[in-house]
Amino acid sequence: MRLVTFEDEAGPRFGVLEHDLIRDVLAEDSGLPTDLLDVVRGGKQTLERIRHTLAVAPSVPVAGVRLRAPIPEPAGNVIAVGRNYRDHAQEFTKSGFDASEKAVVPQHPVIFTKARSSVVGPGAPIRTSNDPTNSTDYEGELAVVIGKEARSVPASDVFAHVFGYTIINDVTARELQSRHVQWFVGKSPDTFCPMGPCIVTVDEMPDLSVTELRTTVNGEIRQKFSLSDMIFDVPTLVATLSEVMTLRPGDLIATGTGPGVGIGFDPPRFLEPGDLVEITIDGIGMLSNPVE
Ligand code: MG
Repeated sequence: MRLVTFEDEAGPRFGVLEHDLIRDVLAEDSGLPTDLLDVVRGGKQTLERIRHTLAVAPSVPVAGVRLRAPIPEPAGNVIAVGRNYRDHAQEFTKSGFDASEKAVVPQHPVIFTKARSSVVGPGAPIRTSNDPTNSTDYEGELAVVIGKEARSVPASDVFAHVFGYTIINDVTARELQSRHVQWFVGKSPDTFCPMGPCIVTVDEMPDLSVTELRTTVNGEIRQKFSLSDMIFDVPTLVATLSEVMTLRPGDLIATGTGPGVGIGFDPPRFLEPGDLVEITIDGIGMLSNPVE
């Protein structure tokens, strides 16, 4: 299933995306949770109840509603992974903006977080005015949505704890990322975490290795890479985190970006007001955000 959070005059709620239509499941079964985060927390039972309701639920055109981030207000900060693709790790080192590490390709996953307050939905503007250093850059990424509480989960069991996937643009203020050494400030300005358009449940994407991600800016292709090129794959990332902390339903892990970000160019090509950033992942869809 492809789950969205949308909003119309009746208020925000979750729905199921089918092509250009959203099945308004709550109109048929008002006992379901309104909030997609609570749907994730409800686990398999809630998903089954949604599946039963789906065929008879009324639908509304996507064009007539406002899509929000699938999880507009995560319970915690968005967990993210740095330098998780070799070619991007190399372009980052070469750019001179990385103040954090000596080794180009990490021996262990580089983990940081983005403030939960940075999350916005599809179509919402990325506001460069929140970056006082005028060095706003894009990073197209697959994000994992945790479905079942995970603590000390071995890599072989990780997918039983994954609810699904979405797209995150790990927008970054490069000068702040460099200046503050730790990445939190440069990764967390308001609007710097576009997310969406939907969460695809894990059963619909059984093999990430065949999946490609593409990022365009104003229609020009900037990033095009296979998710199979991750240095640390999804099972390794979740297992590594769960070894030391409890991951909870609805927690989000942005898995890192591939080559082709703005600082990969010489001179860097930062985002400017008027730009349009579009990230597509096969099987999920397109996350499109204007830049203001
Ligand atoms: Mg990133």
